[in-house]
Amino acid sequence: MEKEANIQSEMFDNIANSYDKINHILSFNMDEKWRKKIAERLPQTRHTKILDVATGTGDLAIMMAKHSKHTHIVGIDISNNMLEIAQKKAEKEKIDERVIFKNNNVTNLPFDDNTFDYCTISFGARNFADLDKALNEIYRCLKPGGRLFIIEFSKKPSNKIIEILYDTYSKIWIPFIGGMISKNKKAYTYLPNSINNFIHWTVFVKKLKSVGFSSVHHKKSTFGIVIFYEGTKI
Ligand code: SAM
Repeated sequence: MEKEANIQSEMFDNIANSYDKINHILSFNMDEKWRKKIAERLPQTRHTKILDVATGTGDLAIMMAKHSKHTHIVGIDISNNMLEIAQKKAEKEKIDERVIFKNNNVTNLPFDDNTFDYCTISFGARNFADLDKALNEIYRCLKPGGRLFIIEFSKKPSNKIIEILYDTYSKIWIPFIGGMISKNKKAYTYLPNSINNFIHWTVFVKKLKSVGFSSVHHKKSTFGIVIFYEGTKI
């Protein structure tokens, strides 16, 4: 599992500089709107502590900090180059006192039990080499009553026509456009493949429940291309 994490961190290190630009292009700027749906779920209460797992270049962490002015956010990731970009963005936005970034693996979080009010993961869950261990660690670090919000791509959009278009787009256009801009076709072949190799949403919902989360819900968005999941620690 450690070897897989090293492969992941090396891959994301290599594409970090072009990651945001390619995300916006390939998603037709929808990535911002999808993350915003999570940020808008957060309260404006003081001293809210949030853990953003697989924070990457920090877009969700920064969006949440800007949306909820009293939150304290820790973004963790295993790619130093992604984290460096995240840190620069937080400094530019002058929110680096409330948002900190750390290099940590989700399977071994350096936080006490019951630390966070919320945990978020945007487009990172399918990349975890050990999803069960990751979800158990997140559960441990959430406070009782704490909530987990996840956005992830779905392997099967709801509509047959969209499914065919999405399949062609993932198999041909994402490797082509992503590969051309990042000069790393392998990474942009892996990324859509990882959507296809990820578990079906029904299995993911069961997994969240088996880890211990209650009030587990999911909601499909954008023709079922993206799914929002949430659960509460008992
Ligand atoms: N959350 C960001 C976003 O919304 O764009 C980044 C998503 S990116 C597709 C996936 C991220 O997961 C990468 O930055 C990668 O380094 C990170 N990652 C993969 N495995 C991880 C692990 N075991 N622990 C922490 N981060 C991990």
